[in-house]
This record gives sequence, structure tokens and C-alpha cells, in this order.
Amino acid sequence: MLNVKPPDYRFCPFCGGLLITKADTDRLRRHCDACQWTYYPHVGASISAVIVRDGKVLMVKRRHEPFKGTWMFPSGFVEFGEHPEETAIREVQEETGLETETLQLFDVFQSEDDPRRPGHFIFFYRVKTIGDTLRNDDDENEDIDWFDPRNPPEVGWKSHRRVLIQLASEIDRKLQEGS
Ligand SMILES: [Zn+2]
Repeated sequence: MLNVKPPDYRFCPFCGGLLITKADTDRLRRHCDACQWTYYPHVGASISAVIVRDGKVLMVKRRHEPFKGTWMFPSGFVEFGEHPEETAIREVQEETGLETETLQLFDVFQSEDDPRRPGHFIFFYRVKTIGDTLRNDDDENEDIDWFDPRNPPEVGWKSHRRVLIQLASEIDRKLQEGS
């Protein structure tokens, strides 16, 4: 279990009343006495798209904090009501200009280093894409490019570094099998 804390709200989002702390079975929770609302923190979710072609992986360079200027897999938060697969298809289109042909769940991590949504789930998908022309999302990213996972650029997010190591060892294994 990760040692992460959810946002600590002081006021009720429905009536604006001051929240008190109340025992709820074995946990302490924020509670509004005025409208009887109890705050159950939500765990967020995001996706990251692992797009590999000819031994190279597609990455984008972050324009904003956190980890501004480092590289990552095309990623984004899951919108309310979206299935993570739908998020992956949308984010791939927005951040690369490519269309998704197929996608497959690769791994799930809990974010250890994103202060925006502490401890959120990151669904990594392997995405097979259609199209050859990359289109950078200038609002989100400074650049987009293909990299050999064994020789990656500077990557900020811990989970993305882990996935790169997995991809690099896959390539090494394939090379050994081929030789
Ligand atoms: Zn209230």
C-alpha cells in the first residue's frame, strides 16, 4: 500500500459548510454536519500508451510541470465516465496524430510521484497505430520522437522508466533468440 494522502478539504463542496472529522468504522473521515455529506476520497486514473515500431518507442517531451522538459509515453487522465481504453484512443490521437488499430493492457501501476492526483492508477496499454505522420500536441508537449528503449532520453515519471526497462529487456531477449 502506498503512503499517499488525498486532498484534505476543509469545506463541503455541496453546501460550503465547515467539514468536521468523524469516525467511520475504522477510519477518520471528513464530514459535513449541515448536509450529512461524508468525504470518501476518489482514486484517480490515467493511461499511458506504449507504441512500438521497428524496435523504437514513441515518446513526447513535456511542456509543463511536473517533470517539465522530460520525456514520457503519450498519457492522460481518464475523464469522468470514460473507460481507460477510450482514454488511450483519445490521447494517442491528441498527442501523436495517429489512429489506434488495436490496444492491449500491458501493466497497471500506482503513481508514486504525481502531486496532482496522489496514488492514481496508471493503465499502460500497448497500442498498435495506423498512420505515419506524427503531429505534436503543441499545448501539451515540446516535441515527439521515436527512441530505442535501450538508449532513452531523460524520463521523469518513475513508472515510465520501469516500463522502458521492460521494453529494453524484451528487445535484448529477441536479439538473443535471433542470434
Ligand atoms: Zn454540506
